[in-house]
Amino acid sequence: MQNIQLFKAFMGQTRQVVIVTHHKPDADALGSSLGLAGYLNKKGHSVTVITPSDYPEFLHWMPGNAGVLALDKGNQKLITEKINQAEIIFCLDFSALNRVQDLTTILRDAPGKKVMIDHHLEPEGFADFVKWDVRAASTAQLIFNLICELGDEHLIDANIADCLYAGLMTDTGSFRHSNTRHEEFAVAGELVRLGADPSKVSKLIYDTNTLERLRLMGFVLSEKLKVLPEYRTAYMTLSADELKRLGSQTGDTEGLVNYGLSIKGIKLSVMIHERKDSVKLSLRSLGEFSVNEMARKHFEGGGHRNASGGSSSLSLDQTLQKFLSILPEYKDQLNKD
Ligand code: 5GP
Ligand code: MN
Repeated sequence: MQNIQLFKAFMGQTRQVVIVTHHKPDADALGSSLGLAGYLNKKGHSVTVITPSDYPEFLHWMPGNAGVLALDKGNQKLITEKINQAEIIFCLDFSALNRVQDLTTILRDAPGKKVMIDHHLEPEGFADFVKWDVRAASTAQLIFNLICELGDEHLIDANIADCLYAGLMTDTGSFRHSNTRHEEFAVAGELVRLGADPSKVSKLIYDTNTLERLRLMGFVLSEKLKVLPEYRTAYMTLSADELKRLGSQTGDTEGLVNYGLSIKGIKLSVMIHERKDSVKLSLRSLGEFSVNEMARKHFEGGGHRNASGGSSSLSLDQTLQKFLSILPEYKDQLNKD
């Protein structure tokens, strides 16, 4: 971390801490937050973890989950107070302020010091302390590295290790994606030494499906997955009606986009689904093709080169038409090697 000595000095006193992560947090967002919270609690700080939305049930097992304040209609006032009273606010797994959606203004104007810890491309400079590494596969490993930098590795217990391992495991696609380097395995090894249980975490995250989720997967793969060989592209869409009809819950669409990318020859895969007030896009690519560029330029989003997200205020069908209409712009790139 830049200014680590200043940061250390600031955290030398007991602080009111808020940890906030992005809208619809995934395992890295929530695992980083709860792992850091577990550590800071041990240091005697008073810590509240806040999420701008709900999150999938397959993350609810994480130690500390019961104390998370997930923004909904009933707790806006409490969350606003917590953010305004915080002496220091950790912003984890995002580096564009608007990723906290309805909390953007509150967070931007909050008087506390801000710490940004993240691994996404093109970060905004809103923080007083920054730990940012675009090569890191996960925010969770940056939390691990920070705790080590502070000389507190011995405070990482099995609960903290499980949370951090969950983030590292999922953001590397179980150590399969191209972001998996020696460093990721090294941190994973350390976390296991400190008590993380890979088989347990993997089971809790990947193998706790509801029947509805499996049926949704079956429906998407048999009915909704389309391939455009001339663009080496796969895409799928899901309407709110379809999601409702299949009894889907938050998080059920996660990971579906990867099936498109698993098809031989495909370089770009996109899942487009309808949410309450917008249409959400998940984009994945292989190799040099940058979905970050595509998401930023056309869908008010961003992320990593090979995994990005975005949104659209058009209808589901119009969003799909827009996506199809920009493909010619990328035809050469998609067909390069
Ligand atoms: P997913 O498709 O799984 O939601 O997200 C893929 C990656 O892109 C994740 O690293 C996620 O944090 C990031 N991401 C998802 N949606 C958005 C978005 O709307 N804006 C930005 N900047 N990043 C996003
Ligand atoms: Mn992440």
